[in-house]
Amino acid sequence: MVDRNSETLFSLIPSVDKILSHPRIHCVLNEYSSTIVKNIVASILNDMRGSIKKNLLTPVDLNLDAVVDRIVKAVAHRLGSSLRTVINATGVVVHTNLGRSPLSRKVVDRIVEVAMSYSNLEYDLEQGKRGQRNAHLRALIEELTGAESVLAVNNNAAAVLLAIGTLAKGKEVIVSRGELIEIGGSFRIPEIMAQSGAILKEVGTTNRTHPGDYIQAINENTALILKVHTSNYRIIGFTREMSFDELVLIGRQYNLPTMMDLGSGCLVDLSPAGLPDEVTVQEVLAKGIDVVSFSGDKLLGGPQAGILVGKKELIDRMASNPLARALRMDKLTLAGLEATLQEYASMSGPRLSIPTLAMISKTPEELMIVAERISLDLNSLLEGKVKISVEKGAGRVGGGALPMSDLVGPRVSIKPTGFSAARLENSLRQGIPPVITMVKDDCVLIDPRTLLDNQTEMIVGLVVNAFDRVMNSNERG
Ligand SMILES: *Cc1c(COP(=O)(O)O)cnc(C)c1O
Repeated sequence: MVDRNSETLFSLIPSVDKILSHPRIHCVLNEYSSTIVKNIVASILNDMRGSIKKNLLTPVDLNLDAVVDRIVKAVAHRLGSSLRTVINATGVVVHTNLGRSPLSRKVVDRIVEVAMSYSNLEYDLEQGKRGQRNAHLRALIEELTGAESVLAVNNNAAAVLLAIGTLAKGKEVIVSRGELIEIGGSFRIPEIMAQSGAILKEVGTTNRTHPGDYIQAINENTALILKVHTSNYRIIGFTREMSFDELVLIGRQYNLPTMMDLGSGCLVDLSPAGLPDEVTVQEVLAKGIDVVSFSGDKLLGGPQAGILVGKKELIDRMASNPLARALRMDKLTLAGLEATLQEYASMSGPRLSIPTLAMISKTPEELMIVAERISLDLNSLLEGKVKISVEKGAGRVGGGALPMSDLVGPRVSIKPTGFSAARLENSLRQGIPPVITMVKDDCVLIDPRTLLDNQTEMIVGLVVNAFDRVMNSNERG
């Protein structure tokens, strides 16, 4: 039964005509399809009727402006951009949840150029006939890594799947127990192996693997020896892992191909940036490993991609696997990847021109200047409401790379006096653009390392706004 009270409320719901002739809805209709907007209006009115029945609404909620406000917000929520740019103040350079590597203007311009035109994507201009999309990367990769051939696919998970599926379907792949890793977002070596149709042959123990373990595991059904970069964790203490030399020796002795899933795919020595442990793609190939796979958007600093490099005979087999067609990279990625690799061959090198490498290369001294300016500005704008200090903290490269190597640099630490750091962190996320921060010991931390060009100026205003939002919601109760 609908009671008297609800009946009165029902009669207060503004008519569709009234709503559609409201000036704010006019603006909305100038931007969006009228059919879709009308559907949203109908669904909101329907929701309101439901809420009235449950006694959840009062007359104030039903006045025209309030209803229109709800509709405008719903339209923005449902039809506006869901994928938005954010400011990464976490200091984690290769942050998978935040889109990994940002691209430079130069690389993006190449993508736009190719996107807006026809191209010789699969067309051989000399012969005037069909060409190969992967041929575009071949010469550059050969110069940069010494690889005989290259095949680029959608991402590194796809590259590993394709390589194993091609080289070892129905056969055994030997992997050390210490390398059976899971990378965030459900990439697990044993599962990829199962998907590829290969049989995982685990050897050694979690912390120690010897050449004898591999040799014992080899039988007539063995097809591949795989080594995996442990990317996001490290085993320390009493450990032994196989060296490249040992793997290559066994591979040659038993006539088995060797492969390394390198994860990050670093092409430059990062020890000047304080990261001495990362082996480069060209080093692994020079050791004699037959196939190396790596991501395009981790330490390489390019678009999302999976890159397979190595022996021509093996790469050719992968390229002619029907799976390669299903996993192929699109032309925009190819344009971005080629432009990224060109930076590595440029006179000035990639260290400044590739944003990911530029961020990793920032020195604590450079960062200290930025941190102190942010701290000073915040101190003067939020005087008495917060405790701000600059602490020497440690950022991380993140994204499945260099988990134990900290990028040392300062961080601005903000401790609100009237409320928790968690509330400030939340409010920062609601900003335009949203700011993503870390909270530690009830302080919001801002790491200047991952702030892009003009964001160091913006961030002060955004923190003040976020602060005001919390204060206002406190006052409203
Ligand atoms: C990151 C990573 C992958 C997955 O690469 P994506 O490009 O994210 O698909 C696979 N293997 C290792 C060792 C990795 O670090």
